[in-house]
Amino acid sequence: MLTSKEIRDSFKKFFQDKGHKIVPSAPMVIKDDPTLMFTNAGMNQFKDIILGNRPADSKRVADSQKCLRVSGKHNDLEEVGHDTYHHTMFEMLGNWSFGDYFKQEAIDWAWEYLTEVVKLDPNRLYATVFEGYAPEGLERDNEAAGIWEKHLPVSHIINGNRKDNFWEMGETGPCGPCSEIHIDLRSDEERAAVDGATLVNSDNPQVIEIWNLVFMQYNRMADGHLEPLPAKVIDTGMGFERLCMALQGKKSNYDTDVFTPIISEISRLSGKEYGKDRMTDVAMRVAADHLRTIAFSIADSQLPSNAKAGYVIRRILRRAVRYVYTFLGQKEAFLYQLVDLLADQMGEAYPELAAQKELIKKVIKEEEESFLRTLDNGIRLLDSFVKKAKDAGSNTLKGEDAFVLYDTYGFPLDLTELILREQGMDLDRAGFDAEMKKQKDRARNAAAVETGDWVVVRDGEETFVGYDDAECETEILRYRKVKQKGKEFFQIILSKTPFYAEMGGQVGDKGTLTGADGSVIEIFDTKKENNIGVHLTTKIPENVDQKFTAAINTELRDASAANHTATHLLHEALREVLGNHVEQKGSYVSPELLRFDFSHFQKVTPEEIRQVEHLVNSRIRKAMALDEHRDLPIAEAKEMGAMALFGEKYGDKVRVVKYGSSVELCGGTHVPNTGNIGMVKIIGESSIAAGIRRIEAVSGAGVEKMLDSIQDSMKEISAMMGGQPDVKAAIQKAINENAELKRQIDEFMAEKIQSLTKVLIEHAEEINGIKVVKLSGERLPDVVKTVAFNVRRDLTENAAFIAATYCDGKPLLTVALSDNLVKEGRNAGQTVREAAKLIKGGGGGQPFFAQAGGKDVNGLDAALAKIEEILGVGK
Ligand code: ATP
Ligand code: MG
Repeated sequence: MLTSKEIRDSFKKFFQDKGHKIVPSAPMVIKDDPTLMFTNAGMNQFKDIILGNRPADSKRVADSQKCLRVSGKHNDLEEVGHDTYHHTMFEMLGNWSFGDYFKQEAIDWAWEYLTEVVKLDPNRLYATVFEGYAPEGLERDNEAAGIWEKHLPVSHIINGNRKDNFWEMGETGPCGPCSEIHIDLRSDEERAAVDGATLVNSDNPQVIEIWNLVFMQYNRMADGHLEPLPAKVIDTGMGFERLCMALQGKKSNYDTDVFTPIISEISRLSGKEYGKDRMTDVAMRVAADHLRTIAFSIADSQLPSNAKAGYVIRRILRRAVRYVYTFLGQKEAFLYQLVDLLADQMGEAYPELAAQKELIKKVIKEEEESFLRTLDNGIRLLDSFVKKAKDAGSNTLKGEDAFVLYDTYGFPLDLTELILREQGMDLDRAGFDAEMKKQKDRARNAAAVETGDWVVVRDGEETFVGYDDAECETEILRYRKVKQKGKEFFQIILSKTPFYAEMGGQVGDKGTLTGADGSVIEIFDTKKENNIGVHLTTKIPENVDQKFTAAINTELRDASAANHTATHLLHEALREVLGNHVEQKGSYVSPELLRFDFSHFQKVTPEEIRQVEHLVNSRIRKAMALDEHRDLPIAEAKEMGAMALFGEKYGDKVRVVKYGSSVELCGGTHVPNTGNIGMVKIIGESSIAAGIRRIEAVSGAGVEKMLDSIQDSMKEISAMMGGQPDVKAAIQKAINENAELKRQIDEFMAEKIQSLTKVLIEHAEEINGIKVVKLSGERLPDVVKTVAFNVRRDLTENAAFIAATYCDGKPLLTVALSDNLVKEGRNAGQTVREAAKLIKGGGGGQPFFAQAGGKDVNGLDAALAKIEEILGVGK
């Protein structure tokens, strides 16, 4: 039996022998592309080649690509675990032709590989072909069908509709028919009983698609019509885990050697057996699948978080925790214990996994623990919702309540339903769905982007000259209108540009486009799309054909460059001071400040921060010149000792940026000499996730601004302290004086309250055998309370203290009774509560002492009378 590793290798070797260049997998987490968060198919990394934005340096390419299908167009998350052949993360084997071979070879080679190399039984294979679509004038893909007929009987060639057999990159762009290969894995008896052809594309777990061959031959325009694609493309994708299942004679992807080690470990750790109970099995599959996704994302620097890709990862992790909690009975962090095994198993093929094992474990453990706390809180909140519903005589939990749990507390709906069922309750599912829809609509409106077709002014490719020039002569190649969040703006692509497009954390340049006719247009930002710098403007020049001068705002750019170079120096210094475990996990560089996120397990101490700052600043003062190498093959960059070599795409030539011993792969803009930075000052250090710290810093003019403001506040403070030369001593003196004054006031107040008590007692009237001590007027609440206690201290029997006072416009009632009166049945708490209604307030306390505040001072007299009446001391 072939092992999974042998299967992967055989695929690559087969296509290598057919003249394909074998390239590495691109990262699974995509940075710098607003349209896609995760790689979801092998073709993603070749998008700019397919769109014609970048030449292919090899026209035939093949690889195995890590893919993730958990958001957007492909979202298989809900299936995963319940079925046996969809994963969140999986490997896609693929081969490509960029304007080279087309349908003939693509089909013949797929057939040859499956039936002759790995020797699948041809009788079990089916192919689908596009049946045509009359409204768009598209005919059946008879070309593909004809080729298949050489290999398969017509009964194994099945027509498929536009949904299954016409592939589109997006709403616009390359598209074309596709042909899928399906395999029937059922037993001979089952196959004899029911014809496999009837089960293709019908969600039967034993009759599944393994390979999709896409023939891109059209380009869809913004108005929806199709034009022929100049360079036709073959794009294929085969599910590696599914192929392993077919070749290893298994009925489930999870029974192949890709998953069995992890499943056994889950079984050992949880003490549950796989294959005995349906939901236990689902939970084990979910855990095994999601673990891979989470670990690989963290290795690709995508940590679980509250937004965007990070939120997707957090949700996946929580889904796994929830299954493990509910069905494997694990109430404590569990998944992190599987990381070592995963790293052993896949670390050779994916070194980033092995290298970052400790960080991955720590992040997963912390996330699990925090979600388990949420689960506890959610269960408590749900209990209170259930009680509320039951008290109101209902057996149904409101949809809004379930949604609050789901949305605010991350509490999963199916768990809510499970708990409700245990309590004999239902869920108002329609209400929940309505809330969900409202939220989705809100999100969609916020994110919707409408783009017009490109208006092509002239052909050509954009060249970036911004590493060397701040300004250049240029022409407009094309432009289009874009609408987002109700705002309209334009995107312009130039023949030549000095504008740096936002990438690698550094923000895009701003500047101007000045026409030969003198017209000036502001460029408010520059972004990257499909590897091209796109200039954003609010209007288009009247004459788009003329020559232009493109000029960046150099002040902003220089400040960004200083912060970017400062980031490199910081990175190096952090590794020297804290250790080599420090790895960059994210960065943000703008003209105003820089942020640098890195792996480190505890707080960076103030002393360490000082040390880092001193190292960085000494290197700035050394005035080291930039040593830049453009277009370096990755191997050479490695030799120079460049950091951050994971996550490069195939064919990438890299740029190495060196200052002294700092060597980094970087596409950003930098200062010509470290001396240009002036100085760096760290202004913040914090934790952003388990094992990840963030440093914020300013450089150059930013430091100057900060020092100015510190100096200004110092001056103001000194002026406030009477301009004394030793401000520190002056402040210390003021603090001491203040404490002494406070002590004196306290003493004075105590004496005053003492004599007030005495006077009040002297004036007390005796009514019905009770001494009634009264206080009214404007009084501090503390004073009233102290007097009350003094009265109880001085008159131990048959005495009542009654106060109706106010302070800052707020009325206050106070009653204190001697103990014998309480024993006889009087109650200060009940009395003030009742009387407080007359001052529009409430309150209470103990039977011997109580106070109540209110809102209406005008009710004080009536309230006082009420108290007297209740206590039986009225006149
Ligand atoms: P399906 O209909 O089975 O979901 P698909 O039409 O979404 O498949 P494609 O987008 O054509 O699949 O992807 C190419 C190949 O990748 C498929 O033939 C299949 O073998 C594999 N594949 C797709 N989705 C998954 C997944 N979630 N997990 C594992 N393999 C997958
Ligand atoms: Mg699918």
